[in-house]
Amino acid sequence: MTDFSKTRAMFEMPEGMIYLNGNSLGPMPKSAPAKIADFMNNEWATELIRGWNTKGWFMQTNTLGDRIGKLVGAEPDSIVVGDTLSIKVFQAVAACLALRPDRKVILSDNGNFPTDLYMVEGLVKLKDAGYALRTPDPQDVMDQITDEVACVMLTEVDYRTGRKHDMKAIIEKAHAHGALVVWDLAHSAGALPVDLSGDGADFACGCTYKFFNGGPGAPAFIYVAPRLIGDVEPALSGWYGHAAPFAFDVNYRPMPEKIDRMRIGTPSIASFAILEAALDAWEDVDMNDLRAKSIALQELFIKEVEARCPGVTLAGPRDMNARGSHVAFEFENGFPVMQALIDQKVIGDFRAPNIMRFGITPLFIDEDDILRAVDILEGILKNETWKEPRFQVRGAVT
Ligand SMILES: *Cc1c(COP(=O)(O)O)cnc(C)c1O
Repeated sequence: MTDFSKTRAMFEMPEGMIYLNGNSLGPMPKSAPAKIADFMNNEWATELIRGWNTKGWFMQTNTLGDRIGKLVGAEPDSIVVGDTLSIKVFQAVAACLALRPDRKVILSDNGNFPTDLYMVEGLVKLKDAGYALRTPDPQDVMDQITDEVACVMLTEVDYRTGRKHDMKAIIEKAHAHGALVVWDLAHSAGALPVDLSGDGADFACGCTYKFFNGGPGAPAFIYVAPRLIGDVEPALSGWYGHAAPFAFDVNYRPMPEKIDRMRIGTPSIASFAILEAALDAWEDVDMNDLRAKSIALQELFIKEVEARCPGVTLAGPRDMNARGSHVAFEFENGFPVMQALIDQKVIGDFRAPNIMRFGITPLFIDEDDILRAVDILEGILKNETWKEPRFQVRGAVT
């Protein structure tokens, strides 16, 4: 059994704070400052350019990728880390289109995170070859998988409501129709068990600053099934993915048969130092234990809110098998209520038009946190604290 009191002690948390936003930005691992200081003082300062060899910087894209791979059911050598999730979505979809040259449809859904859709819009414009992006309601995606579709691009867990797609079933249907699938694991990786290899996934990508706790702007990752990588033509053909990066050839040749070809340019090695510290916290975590605790905490939270907070209604599915690891409630005045919660150190976030979102992250959240958070929410609603003018002001980031 995973010892969650041990993982909880691995994170820094301000006194009295109940942090229900690990789905947007995870907390700082206590070991991170020493790790980054070690990188500065004992790698950069002393090794300088030699660090690419002596400290293994050049291949950290892959060594960190393998550590993430163990947490999402990926084969060894099938994930590299770097860049941003937006860029990784672009790379993956572009690769699918090149692998299915006779097809012109990219299928997503209208609940997808906007940047994923924006990246595809940009790609479609760039290719200027009659591609169409279809965005039906999430529940209609299955029916729209046809022989016309080149690429199904979905975020497994909806960033607003927590609704979860059936990954295996979608992959099976897509493959039966000759389509490829790109999964965005932004709200899955580190949130629930993912079995990329077992489910027969083609492509996947995700970020490391949410449930993985890699720090603000931590690098993204991309997965390509080993059976496909040899045929993938990188659309973003950077020197870091070249077959012989130090030959400085004027022509691009991708690293043969290897995930390395999905690398683009020089990664942020300082961010990698922090990500290493973050991944250390996952070493002894069993994803099934994590899921069981996440479900128990979510059910407790929903039950208490429904019993004590009139007018606050659950968004997204009630069935735990169809949910990820955050709980969303709808409330007409969700924005000021969330500001009042944050003022009392219960940190969640707000997503337009009326969703209050709470990340359930068993690594550092327990039953007491959930019960105290509901006490505070109940008080804010009873006393109408949220009506204070200062809670109506919107910042740049909600
Ligand atoms: C958080 C998130 C992103 C963010 O992309 P960045 O390039 O890291 O800013 C993209 N897609 C989904 C589904 C997300 O939840």
